[in-house]
Amino acid sequence: MAAITMNHIVKKYGDGFPAVNDISIDVADGEFMILVGPSGCGKSTLLRMIVGLEDITSGDMMIGDRRVNDLAPRDRNLAMVFQNYALYPHLTVYENIAFPLRLAKVPDDELDKLVRDAASTLELDEHLDRKPGNLSGGQRQRVAMGRAIVRQSDAFLFDEPLSNLDAKLRGQMRTEIARLQKRLGITTVYVTHDQTEAMTLGDRVAVLKRGVLQQLATPRELYENP
Ligand code: ADP
Ligand code: ADP
Repeated sequence: MAAITMNHIVKKYGDGFPAVNDISIDVADGEFMILVGPSGCGKSTLLRMIVGLEDITSGDMMIGDRRVNDLAPRDRNLAMVFQNYALYPHLTVYENIAFPLRLAKVPDDELDKLVRDAASTLELDEHLDRKPGNLSGGQRQRVAMGRAIVRQSDAFLFDEPLSNLDAKLRGQMRTEIARLQKRLGITTVYVTHDQTEAMTLGDRVAVLKRGVLQQLATPRELYENP
């Protein structure tokens, strides 16, 4: 786990108006930070710069006390949880969670312990032999998070993970994510345009508009004081 510090971050695509215009946000170790704002305000761009999928035009991006501007995504030790969860349909839950450890050539006995510990934390012990196609949406989300946990990532990053789900499942998943994040105490940055998600999940909410940070406050300060 680590704090994420964005210091005067700017992103320009070509000659256009900056998509992200001098944004500074400190995400504390273990904090759940929400990024909200209308479509096109720069949320995804900012998230992608944290992960390393987008070059930073200027400013400093810090993870813990490391400046990561020039680090490749795989060297940043972050876990991005995508909308579609990006699970491998032909692999079991066990192998999906184990996947990053296999890539890293972690020895079998150590790998087995890490996978089983993660599965236990996420209450997936009984589903290790199943394939993603036979799981509920909530279970699939937990497998995706399991893959992030085994790598002992410093932070979770979510880009509108619930926007394709129906209202009922979205509500369940919201509860699930909140519970897991608190249990794991892992630093989280979460992009959404859903006010309910911002209110129920966020320790703090950063409101973006046209690439600028407009407000940074607790959900209570933002939504309960007119
Ligand atoms: P949001 O996630 O809040 O919807 P984005 O970060 O996707 O916003 O986009 C912010 C702005 O940057 C928008 O004006 C968008 O059109 C522009 N933009 C995003 N990605 C690119 C790109 N690859 N090339 C050029 N402009 C882009
Ligand atoms: P979102 O707003 O949900 O982030 P978009 O549909 O705006 O997604 O963008 C989808 C993809 O297209 C992203 O990879 C983004 O970087 C890219 N993109 C967005 N706007 C532009 C643009 N003006 N020029 C080129 N690529 C863009």
